[in-house]
Amino acid sequence: MNENDITVNLAPGSKIDSVDFENLTFGNVFTDHMLICDYKNGVWEKPVIKPYEPFLIDPSAKVFHYGQAIFEGMKAYKDENDDVWLFRPDQNYERFNKSATRLAMPEVPENVFMGGLKKLVEIEKAWVKKGKGNSLYIRPFMIATGPGVLAAPALFYRFMIILSPAKSYYSGEVKVLIAEHFSRAANGGIGAAKAAGNYSAQFYPTKLANEQGYQQIIWTDDATHTKLEEAGTMNVFFRINDTLYTAPTSERILDGVTRKSLIDVAKREGINVEVRPVLVSELVEATENGTLQEVFGAGTAAVVNPIVGFSYKEKYYELPKQENSVALFLKEKLNNIQYKLAEDTFGWTVKI
Ligand SMILES: *Cc1c(COP(=O)(O)O)cnc(C)c1O
Repeated sequence: MNENDITVNLAPGSKIDSVDFENLTFGNVFTDHMLICDYKNGVWEKPVIKPYEPFLIDPSAKVFHYGQAIFEGMKAYKDENDDVWLFRPDQNYERFNKSATRLAMPEVPENVFMGGLKKLVEIEKAWVKKGKGNSLYIRPFMIATGPGVLAAPALFYRFMIILSPAKSYYSGEVKVLIAEHFSRAANGGIGAAKAAGNYSAQFYPTKLANEQGYQQIIWTDDATHTKLEEAGTMNVFFRINDTLYTAPTSERILDGVTRKSLIDVAKREGINVEVRPVLVSELVEATENGTLQEVFGAGTAAVVNPIVGFSYKEKYYELPKQENSVALFLKEKLNNIQYKLAEDTFGWTVKI
């Protein structure tokens, strides 16, 4: 299949002129078109790009009852020559199919995911604005559309891609609560999959944290709550004594594209990086003896999200103010690759 095997029904007009690109809130505005590809009885049908609109679905569809739903999050960037670039899309594609397998959903063929994605972004090129901070957020996802409340995997699925213009955002001062009871993921569970259910499971503990004045939770291992694993829906890094630490990925920790890219960029820049489990007790000790420099989340939406303080066992620990933030340095280096402002020494960028 090549891109001619995608049916394209263009919208009669564009709503782009009604969008205020200077004042976007994340994930609220969608472009003119979307991609749909249905899977029925073991076969993927021909993908269709059509105007963005709601669709009908049977009330007994298994996505509503048993949560067969997975997604990806990635971005397209425009360079100074108006060329549009994806960042490591192969990584998102691979991870998507790993998530699919874990939820007993069919794998999506490369020509549907990648071919569809490239064609859709090409059609919506005008929605990718130039300039650092501007991007087009890409949301591929798959749901079980097959009907019936029998608790078994569905026979019908729908793969879709929707696109949302995004602006870099400043999240404000982020204070986090270290989890002592709730867990995001457990060994043998679905924590390593980008499954919708992992997010709904986080909402309630995060709401409780918000009520106490914390924006996010740092998740710890479910068995002992002694190891630091992720920050909200991001991977997490700690800078102690000029070394950058982050936990190895596992069944409980999502293999973030930003995380592994930051590790490679940091190493290239001569920064000491250690991938190993980091204990809550180490973090507390490093704060008390003054060796803790930075804590930050890492993910596609913001690249890095600096954390200003954390609470553990009812005690709040404030991080020192950083003159030379390694988090912001690495963000700049990664952004420069993504926007084609620096040489892509890793071969990560893919032109649309
Ligand atoms: C998506 C996600 C991340 C970040 O992954 P990126 O590929 O860097 O965007 C980290 N942790 C969790 C739980 C996630 O769902």
